[in-house]
Amino acid sequence: MGEFDLIGENFANVGAQRSDVLLGVGDDAALVLPPAGQEMVIAVDTLVEGQHFPPGFDAKDIGWRSLAVNLSDCAAMGAQPLYATLALTIPEHQEEWLADFAEGFASLAKIHGVSLIGGDTTRGPLTITVQIIGVVPRNQAMRRSQAKPGDLIYVTGWPGDAAAGLALLQGRLEGQGAMRSTLEDKFKRPEPRVAFGQRLRQVSQCCIDVSDGLVQDLGHICTQSQVGATLRFKELPMSRSLHALASAEQSLQWVLGGGDDYELLFTIDPKQAAEFARVRSFNGAPACHCIGEITAKAGVRLMDGKREMPLPQGWDPFRVG
Ligand SMILES: [Mg+2]
Repeated sequence: MGEFDLIGENFANVGAQRSDVLLGVGDDAALVLPPAGQEMVIAVDTLVEGQHFPPGFDAKDIGWRSLAVNLSDCAAMGAQPLYATLALTIPEHQEEWLADFAEGFASLAKIHGVSLIGGDTTRGPLTITVQIIGVVPRNQAMRRSQAKPGDLIYVTGWPGDAAAGLALLQGRLEGQGAMRSTLEDKFKRPEPRVAFGQRLRQVSQCCIDVSDGLVQDLGHICTQSQVGATLRFKELPMSRSLHALASAEQSLQWVLGGGDDYELLFTIDPKQAAEFARVRSFNGAPACHCIGEITAKAGVRLMDGKREMPLPQGWDPFRVG
């Protein structure tokens, strides 16, 4: 089967059928007619087997995950994702693998109204690159550079769960039953906060998605905003599953530095509290935890009352292999 057949067989009509896609998979390039007057938001991410997911990881989950990490970047900007392109490097002809990959990718794409408009396949070690193209109204995108001293720091969901899920998958953590599958699903099928991100931009100017680990990603905000941050140990969220399966010390390490969470980390001016309460109260909104505040003094600190605690190291991109 040639390159054309691989794409045509598996990736034509993947995801949402959008009327603003004038020409999708099958020509030299795609043609789209994005909404007028909006800024385009473009992000790209590469997943490499052994580095971003374990060898032998289910193809459907890889398909889901490769799109999810890009949708999460869109969410962090407050953008609506519209189109995706896909560059796939696979070791050999594996038609069943391709069909499964496409199924996982398509199921998430449909949820978010994203159309796959183009792709390319080559032979080599398993590597997936997805580019996402979205839109946001002019001057409304959230940026890492907009945190101000006095802003409150929030995170959605339960950071640390995905790192625990990966540890379970790799046999570094023990656990059974519903708690095990909850944590594993957080790694295998992250749910990007796309709807929440689009609402959040009404009240927040500064947001990042947590991919490297909470502390490291907060550090990116601090560097770009030229501020610091204080995290309050007692306010850090920890899911019941994580608390039950991992030691207290390990749990804290994963909450602060585990990575792969794809939650949103953002700042809110306390004056916007009432408006923020309205924004976060829609059906299906994620849990939002206030974990600290932005400071004028540089650096990220973790405080237990008045006592400063040591911070974990950030995400190690080579730890999976
Ligand atoms: Mg990101």
